[in-house]
Amino acid sequence: MDIYPPPPIQISMTLIYPYYKPGRGFAYPEYVSRYPPVNNFRVSHLKLELWIDFEGQSLRGFEEVEVEHSAGGGWVAFDACEMWIESVKVDGKDAEWRYDGERLHVRLDAGRCRVEISYRARPRKGFHFIKPDKANPDRAPQAWSQGETEYNRYWLPLVDHPSQKHTSEIIVYVPRGFIGISNGDLISRGSKDGWDYWHWRMDKPHSPYLISVVAGVFEEYGEEFNGVRLSYYVPPGYGKFYRLSFEKTPKILEFFSKYLDYPYPYGKYAQVAVYEFIFGGMENTTATTLTELTLHDEKAHIDFSSDPLIAHEAAHQWFGDLVTCRDWPHIWLNESFATFLENLFVRHDKGEDEFVYENIRDMDSYLSEYRDYYARPIVTRVYKYAAELFDAHTYPKGGVVLNMLRALLGEDTFRKGLNLFLKRYAYSVADTEDFRKVMEEVSGRSLEQFFEQFFYNAGHPAIRVEEEWRDSTRQLVLRFKQTQGEDSLPIYHLDIPVRVKTKSSDKEFTVELREKEVTHVISLDEQPELVCIDPRFEVFKTLELARGVEQHIKVLESDEHVYCRVLAARALGRLGGAKAVEALKRSVLGDRFWGVSAEAAKALGELRTEEAKNALIEALSIVTDTKVKRSICEALGNFRGYDVVEALSKILSNGEESYYVRQAAATSLGKTKKEGVYEILLRHIDTPSHASAITVGVLRGLAELGGEEALKTLMRYAEADKQSTVRAAAIASLGKFPGRREVVEVLRQYARDPNYRVRRAVVAACRELLSSEAIGILEDVAQNDVYEMNRRAARDAAERIRKSLEKGIEYKELREELERIKEENRRLVERVSILAGAIESKA
Ligand SMILES: [Zn+2]
Repeated sequence: MDIYPPPPIQISMTLIYPYYKPGRGFAYPEYVSRYPPVNNFRVSHLKLELWIDFEGQSLRGFEEVEVEHSAGGGWVAFDACEMWIESVKVDGKDAEWRYDGERLHVRLDAGRCRVEISYRARPRKGFHFIKPDKANPDRAPQAWSQGETEYNRYWLPLVDHPSQKHTSEIIVYVPRGFIGISNGDLISRGSKDGWDYWHWRMDKPHSPYLISVVAGVFEEYGEEFNGVRLSYYVPPGYGKFYRLSFEKTPKILEFFSKYLDYPYPYGKYAQVAVYEFIFGGMENTTATTLTELTLHDEKAHIDFSSDPLIAHEAAHQWFGDLVTCRDWPHIWLNESFATFLENLFVRHDKGEDEFVYENIRDMDSYLSEYRDYYARPIVTRVYKYAAELFDAHTYPKGGVVLNMLRALLGEDTFRKGLNLFLKRYAYSVADTEDFRKVMEEVSGRSLEQFFEQFFYNAGHPAIRVEEEWRDSTRQLVLRFKQTQGEDSLPIYHLDIPVRVKTKSSDKEFTVELREKEVTHVISLDEQPELVCIDPRFEVFKTLELARGVEQHIKVLESDEHVYCRVLAARALGRLGGAKAVEALKRSVLGDRFWGVSAEAAKALGELRTEEAKNALIEALSIVTDTKVKRSICEALGNFRGYDVVEALSKILSNGEESYYVRQAAATSLGKTKKEGVYEILLRHIDTPSHASAITVGVLRGLAELGGEEALKTLMRYAEADKQSTVRAAAIASLGKFPGRREVVEVLRQYARDPNYRVRRAVVAACRELLSSEAIGILEDVAQNDVYEMNRRAARDAAERIRKSLEKGIEYKELREELERIKEENRRLVERVSILAGAIESKA
């Protein structure tokens, strides 16, 4: 049912365009292509006076909009949702207007004019009031807006489309002592009629969704960077943490200015951390809003960093704000770039290995969306809500593809292209074709095929490589095969670098894949020691290497490239055997890059054997890198036994240990399902930690553990007097308790909770419950949630449950059966490995 395009069209599309791959599962049957609105007028400036009533959680606005009507005059429409429009004037005279609750229509004469709108609003979305509550009785009040994608229209009338770029000016009226923050430069501040006001002016054109207002009580810190004022606003009491989060801001801005050869485009850059933000951050022009969860103490700083988030939002000031996507289908021009530039900053700051590993993890995150949800072209017009396009295709997939383009063109040419793109479309909008043409202009080569393959079609290349050494002819034979499935193109054109190392030489070749199967023969003086396909992970693809354990071990132990070692570790985690375990253990303990050690730990977890378990337990007491430790703790979640309980509870109980290592230990402890674990977990449930990391880990552990006591505790931590992060973790965990009426009841209740994080968790829980009652709750969310992202997630979850029920499978039985088989299998594997050990020791 949920395939795109609907079956009859798909048949004809397949016949006419055999090489067009629209994807699967993204577009629902009623979805249609969306195009930008046709407007016969332009806004040139918007000035807003906004009074924020914290008591009444409402707004009063007086707006003046400079408009130019290009045709002979007539009706124009402003987006203005759920407002009370009090008066509309044009050039000071009462105007002809009508309002339908979503759009304000005003009749204008031809040419320039000024439209004045007085209105009131009590927004359900796009503008949030934060006040003290049961969980946070001392919380300072705050109010913040969130414009992207189409939410600013809930608190100010505007022409809400990215292509309408104009200057803006906002005067924020707040209670005495409060701060009001908006885009651009501070023109003046003062007091008037019992209010404090802050007057901001953004004198460069920007898109309406980037208009922002944040108000409340904040501590402000600041510094200068190349004449740009940098401001950091944090809630009261967080001042001691601000530096850890923001200290790299000047370095980040300097790096992007240099890499893009384009200085930071504005006069100020403010970053504001607010409570209960619905995303990680939002790149409002010159005034980024961030989640308060990014603020952290010294201890969290060991393995938690704000740098990626800070770099991501800062990158948007160029890609997104200076140059904006012309329309939502081209949102990758904002988000893939921010993701990729964030990775480039990681390379600049921490080196090549970290950069490659970021790209590997981006690929993983795209693949998990591709496998579990859907496939779609990065650029598509077929969607219902613009918010649906903000997914793992737009962010990580686009980022990895951009990295491929960088490698294909060479870094210098690529950078020239980015610079030209920014210069040509500065303070304006651009689409995918604009970008392609700029890159063609600087490189002198056609990129149509590249863009067709990776931006306009769904899917990805899957490459399998077999290698053979022919001693008689001194030849290395590499057989490449494209094995991608139905929803990817049948044949991709790719250039894949191959590095071949012998005792006396080290050479790199490029293999041109132009067919489904390609055999490449390389003459060498001696047998190669190492063959590394795509050593720097520059080609967007999955890679399967038909190699034996010995070869993978050799790569894991001696290849200098992170990508090759990660693939080797993952392969050993599938192949197993005593030698694989030993090699993986050595890698956990000794690889020079933490990411490979963490992958090796994960691979040991996949093996599920007694030796693998012992290796992990031993490594846990030796390893000092907290990121590797965390991976070991996660991997131990695949094992039972009191030795695992002992090792993990030692970690959880150690107050010196990092928050996130303890979090992983708590969750894995629950997975052991051993007696006494409930008591251990409960002892640590209220341990204070960054973003309640330990509490969250304990709650997840309790969900894994199961049982009446655990359920009772989870229900208790789902209540409104707990922090939203804690509630969300408790509620999402309820998905592990199918067939319980009380669970369904609380999920139904929390589906309408005012907190967005809580409502997201309800969808996650219902998705796992897989029952018809869960469908009812999900349908309610899919119809009524104010935010489209949650509506879409709920619809996907309901659809998934419906399908599994339609198959006529009684899910509960299936799940129990699966658990039983898994448990039996685990016991068998353990038994076999013990026996094998016994035999070995006898032999
Ligand atoms: Zn972004």
